[in-house]
Amino acid sequence: MLNFLPIAYFENEFIAFDNAKISIATHALHYGTAAFGGMRGIPNPQNSKEILLFRLDRHCQRLSQSAKFLNHDLPAAKIQQIIIDFVKKNKPSASFYIRPLVYTSGLGIAPRLHKIEKDFFVYGLEMGDYMSPDGISCRISSWYRQEDRSFPLRGKISAAYITSALAKTEAVESGFDEAILMNSQGKVCEGTGMNLFIVRNGQLITPGFDQDILEGITRDSILTLAKNLGIPTLERPIDKTELFIADEVFLSGTAAKITPVKKIETFHLSEQRPITEKLRDKLLAITENKDPEYQDWVYSISL
Ligand code: PMP
Repeated sequence: MLNFLPIAYFENEFIAFDNAKISIATHALHYGTAAFGGMRGIPNPQNSKEILLFRLDRHCQRLSQSAKFLNHDLPAAKIQQIIIDFVKKNKPSASFYIRPLVYTSGLGIAPRLHKIEKDFFVYGLEMGDYMSPDGISCRISSWYRQEDRSFPLRGKISAAYITSALAKTEAVESGFDEAILMNSQGKVCEGTGMNLFIVRNGQLITPGFDQDILEGITRDSILTLAKNLGIPTLERPIDKTELFIADEVFLSGTAAKITPVKKIETFHLSEQRPITEKLRDKLLAITENKDPEYQDWVYSISL
């Protein structure tokens, strides 16, 4: 059951979520010409009159960049103010997820980005764990991630998620929890909505920006944390066979947080995951604003 927050931002105003509706002729619905964001918020465990949002500025910046691919100018500062007002109006009382979306809102036939109206909406829903925190099984997908030369992979463009959806359903219908996609070079890329990390001999390794990944904000946070914790990090291409013999593998994302992988195809991974656990504990403490060193990653909103 989905518990939507009662108020949405739609067509430049705050209205009841139930009244925020679009036409069946909406351009974006036909051509996938939309881009979205996703951020998590929680009531401050130390003060329930305060809401904490993780790396709000980075999320707004990424969405503003995604909007550029739709030929639309949507300043990050404007997104941020709308999100803050959205949270104040909804006063969430449990952990939640915010979904902002920018899209070609005009009614029209023919794929294009010029001469078509754009709009921006925000809604939210309560969200606990998106994936099992105890570890998941993954299938190597028969679907490959798109290539940057034919798809703007630095934006979170809605159309891209057909590949994620195909991969996820293929994985789940064949008995796995999640899919790992390769890129067109045959190297390990990411999950259906998460970046991927492996640990080998104490080193934390993740595919670099030249590997057709999404520039994940959780990924960026983990690399910074690891460096500050003295864990050696490396951004480089990862081969499929490395997944099977890695000491630890985990997926990272706003919804997935840090989700350990316990099995990939027929290969079982160790249940000892010291680096995954260390990073996960640290990230959790930061999102709950319990770590003074990273307070600038947490935006607090007084209700
Ligand atoms: N890759 C894809 C395809 C995603 O949809 C997401 C979720 N936004 C991620 C990676 C992880 O990104 P982030 O940590 O910014 O949520």
